[in-house]
Amino acid sequence: MRIARFSIDGNVAFGAVEGDGPDELVLDIIKGIPFADFELSGTKVPFSKVRLLPPVLPNKVIAFGRNYAEHARELGHEVPEVPFAFFKPSTSVIGTGDAIQYPSFSQELHHEAELAVVIGRMCREVPRERVDDVILGYTAANDVTARDVQKREKQWARAKGFDTSCPLGPWVETDLDVAAASQLTIQCTVNGQQRQLGRTSDMITPIADLIANISEAMTLLPGDVILTGTPEGVGPLSVGDEVAVAIEGIGTLTNKVVKRG
Ligand code: ZN
Repeated sequence: MRIARFSIDGNVAFGAVEGDGPDELVLDIIKGIPFADFELSGTKVPFSKVRLLPPVLPNKVIAFGRNYAEHARELGHEVPEVPFAFFKPSTSVIGTGDAIQYPSFSQELHHEAELAVVIGRMCREVPRERVDDVILGYTAANDVTARDVQKREKQWARAKGFDTSCPLGPWVETDLDVAAASQLTIQCTVNGQQRQLGRTSDMITPIADLIANISEAMTLLPGDVILTGTPEGVGPLSVGDEVAVAIEGIGTLTNKVVKRG
């Protein structure tokens, strides 16, 4: 099932995405929230009547760095021996169709296409064999990075945590287990031109181990999001660009870059 979060007539709801072509998609409104047992209401609204929102409102976004060897090399880094994580704040999250606001303190904004894991229930110290039990599903993410700021500041809070630096969407795909999610093509285009093309099977630390690693340290809550790293091909974004992250079997997350007003 594909679960989207949307607003309609000022109300916010979750819905199951149904239909095939982009013009035929409808949302079957979910009674309750998707983090517990829920029912479909049978009330269907067309996509044209709604505005898609970020598919979840995470308490925290945990992002893993340098998890694809070719990407670590293109930035001149060693491949890390152990996974390392950083945070993106909840205020960095936007949905598909929302604008990435180019911050005034950077001259070098980069896209980073990533597979995002959405946590479905509260958990801690999750063994790698049990991660499917705590995952609601998967969505696409763009770990937008002010590369110049990242290079000159020791901590990445500003470089990777500024407002709008975490596009997520377009929805959460729940029909993938961790084995299937580890075999997907991930692509980034800017203005229709391909910039990144990778496979989630090329991760240095696999998804299950990333979740075991971070949940060893902290409690994960329903709606928390884990970014799994980006393949090679990261590059600059300019005001006016349209950047799209497409993940096989999930969907396409599209955002425009605007100057922060
Ligand atoms: Zn990243």
